[in-house]
Amino acid sequence: QETLLELRDIRKSYTQRRWPAPAETLHAVGGVSLDIQRGETLGVVGESGCGKSTLGQMASLMLQPSAGSIKFKGTALAVDRDGARGPARSQIQYVFQDPYASLNPRFTIGRLLEEPLAIQRKGTREERRRLAEHMLERIGLQASYAKRYPHELSGGQRQRVGIARALMLRPEFLVLDEPVSALDVSVQAQILNLLKELQEELSLTYLFISHDLNVVHYMSDRVAVMYLGRIVEIAEVDALYTKPLHPYTQALVASIPAEPGSVPVAAAVIEGELPDPRHLPQGCAFRSRCLHAHERCGQQPGLVEVSSGRQVACHLWS
Ligand code: SF4
Ligand code: MG
Repeated sequence: QETLLELRDIRKSYTQRRWPAPAETLHAVGGVSLDIQRGETLGVVGESGCGKSTLGQMASLMLQPSAGSIKFKGTALAVDRDGARGPARSQIQYVFQDPYASLNPRFTIGRLLEEPLAIQRKGTREERRRLAEHMLERIGLQASYAKRYPHELSGGQRQRVGIARALMLRPEFLVLDEPVSALDVSVQAQILNLLKELQEELSLTYLFISHDLNVVHYMSDRVAVMYLGRIVEIAEVDALYTKPLHPYTQALVASIPAEPGSVPVAAAVIEGELPDPRHLPQGCAFRSRCLHAHERCGQQPGLVEVSSGRQVACHLWS
């Protein structure tokens, strides 16, 4: 096992000024440490606004953390405002939820695919064109699609192009941020299976972000559950779904119906309100909704290893 990406106490906070109210600090991600192993898919699941996209953007070097450190293949990365420089920039790529928003509508598909190579001045024009056509076939579209424009493609085809574009620089690590949430359920499985095939063939490592519990189950080797900017539990996928330990994970898993289908986290039946992230309760952030809350929960529980490969942030397990 080789650790590909190492996040240590990564944080992101934003200061909001709404005069005349005093400035408020929003902690989008409040101290996350993760080791992502080469070849695995690490799923990240949580409600919208829990910080999973912010975490993914920091892991893909698109967003500068407020604090913490990131190592890629053992080398520390300095992430500046425009993202990290150097070779890691092409080895780590990000796939957006909405490929339409991320593909310039005035460019042909061919040009969109060639662009990452052109920016890095890799290959001749002819080589870039041939690589783009090869990549189109690889992701299940004909080479002739290079001459089309994004609006001529279906949602599923556009997401295939989004994936192809991320692969043009031959990355080792992809952050997939809700890659199928914008697609019809019938198309979702095709894209998920394509991602699995590509992972196998190209030895890719994935950070797979989703609010859909079944999609995360299907894709992941390990799963991290996020709540209000922190990881509350991380475990092997089967252990997490069959024996969730954190009360929040338990509530999520209990909400999955027996019949297969899409299960957004927001559908989970959890009593109580989600606290305002600008005014998090003292101690455990889940306290306002937890059936097991007790006095000790006024203190922030740390993420501790309770068995091999399994970490939980809850006083019931420490
Ligand atoms: Fe519930 Fe306390 Fe555990 Fe938080 S630390 S999840 S409030 S039991
Ligand atoms: Mg998001």
